[in-house]
Amino acid sequence: MKKSRYFTLKELCRSRTALRKGIDNFPSFEVVSHLEELVAKLLEPLREAWGSPIAVTSGYRSSSLNRAVGGVRDSPHMKGYAADLVPLEKDAEALFAFAVEFLSSGGIPFDQILLETRGETSWVHLSLRSSSGAQRREHKKITVQYPDLREKNPLSV
Ligand SMILES: [Zn+2]
Repeated sequence: MKKSRYFTLKELCRSRTALRKGIDNFPSFEVVSHLEELVAKLLEPLREAWGSPIAVTSGYRSSSLNRAVGGVRDSPHMKGYAADLVPLEKDAEALFAFAVEFLSSGGIPFDQILLETRGETSWVHLSLRSSSGAQRREHKKITVQYPDLREKNPLSV
């Protein structure tokens, strides 16, 4: 992956669920190039402006991993176009508000900024493009259900 000051390919492909369940989550060259674009256009500028550490809790997901974590069927994570982020020194809500302001006012193309909450945990889902290539520049707050409760109604992006 091209040099990034703050993010590594390893952390963008790392998954505790994949390790635990023995799921292959090795990215293709195409996925790596999408992750590079995601980092260069969104993650790096956002991290630089934010000014303190941001952890990636989910980046690339192979289709088996996406199923295992309960992701929506056409999740942009499967193309390397999305990352779930958690700031280490402030809460996710603050990062969400900051990202909306920073990316919207900067006129930067992106698909979605979501504040996702599951139980007590929240994170920011940031995507460069939808799985169909759209850049809707939309932001909203959503509640995600636990994977085993939502077989019939997947909500996690
Ligand atoms: Zn996500």
